[in-house]
Amino acid sequence: MKFDVQKIREDFPALSQTVRGGKKLVYFDNAATSQKPRSVIEAIGNFYACDNANIHRSAHELSARATEQYENARKKALKFLNAPKEYCAVFTRGATESLNIVAQSWGQSNLAEGDEILLTEMEHHANIVPWQIAAQKTGAKIRIVKILPDGSLDMDDFERKISEKTKIVSVAHASNVLGTVNDISAISKTAKKFGAKVSIDAAQSAPHMLDDMSKLDCDFISLSAHKCFGPTGCGVLVSKQSILDSMPPYQCGGDMIENVSWERTTFRPAPERFEAGTPNIAGAIGFGAAIDYLSSLDIDGLRRHEHALRERLTERLLEIGGIKIFGNAKDKVALASFCRPGVHPNDISVMLDAAGIAVRTGHHCAEPLMNSLGIEGTARASLAFYNTLDEIDFFAETLKHAIDLLA
Ligand SMILES: *Cc1c(COP(=O)(O)O)cnc(C)c1O
Repeated sequence: MKFDVQKIREDFPALSQTVRGGKKLVYFDNAATSQKPRSVIEAIGNFYACDNANIHRSAHELSARATEQYENARKKALKFLNAPKEYCAVFTRGATESLNIVAQSWGQSNLAEGDEILLTEMEHHANIVPWQIAAQKTGAKIRIVKILPDGSLDMDDFERKISEKTKIVSVAHASNVLGTVNDISAISKTAKKFGAKVSIDAAQSAPHMLDDMSKLDCDFISLSAHKCFGPTGCGVLVSKQSILDSMPPYQCGGDMIENVSWERTTFRPAPERFEAGTPNIAGAIGFGAAIDYLSSLDIDGLRRHEHALRERLTERLLEIGGIKIFGNAKDKVALASFCRPGVHPNDISVMLDAAGIAVRTGHHCAEPLMNSLGIEGTARASLAFYNTLDEIDFFAETLKHAIDLLA
């Protein structure tokens, strides 16, 4: 079916409301979290209303239904990422937990003194801090690939910094601040030459349907359901079955063990190995429904629409004058982090909010990047496929008015 944004908006109940005393909501905070289509909300409600039971444990009908839906959601997640068949999907709490599993479980059992972890200047705290802990515990060293003035990754610096010492390259597919889409295939190709593993933080690329694992050739991919129009508290870590099975458990408890005795406990293979205790069953089922929803969209039409949104957003921001956009890479998602020198980003967001426009301000969980850019924070408008060109025009007019008053 042809991509019709007005029709698509009707699928998202939250988008049609008014806020701040009758202002039409303009939701431009999608990089923080996305709104949910009715089918996702209903899938979660139906699970609790009809099928609620614990999974993998009982023979009764409700448990069988719950287990089937949960395991189907896992298959959908693999299909969503077009993961080759040697890959396995572990359900997690979100991208943060997925990245922590990579750094803690894989990192602490594969890194040693003299080894290097290669990160980039544009990483989210969730792809920095777990590696700092892994480095402290193992004696490995973190090296950081620089960015160019346009916000793209400095691939020459990457080539300079990668070596035989590099054991893993962990990088965002798309930056939550700059919007930059990194060339993961190129990164993987070089990393493979040095025998380094590649871990992708797909939290910001997955919502734009950019992750095709058959092409990215990475070892780990982490994402959050809630940024992909699914529920909070759920995400996936996808990796090769053989890699996951070689990694030590990250948390321990029910469902992840093979046999337990006082003398010796053995663990099940992945995914169960990394899913200790009762997981977020409803969350996984809701995520499966989000993937079904996304699969029903005209993806070429969606890409054209998002491209038009991105162009219009940049254009209208630059028209205002005096605005600096951080991140102008050629390959970029529909997102703009910006500042107006002399005006505090918080004041901008308060004025926008009064008009019903939701944006985010601050360091966006990327303090090292803010330091590199020499700023404390930005305002950020981050768009999804359900946003419209008219919303951007209204946003730009409101912003211009706000800046005239504040500057
Ligand atoms: C949001 C985000 C994360 C963390 O995701 P959670 O859903 O908070 O776990 C990690 N990396 C990037 C780039 C993000 O935007």
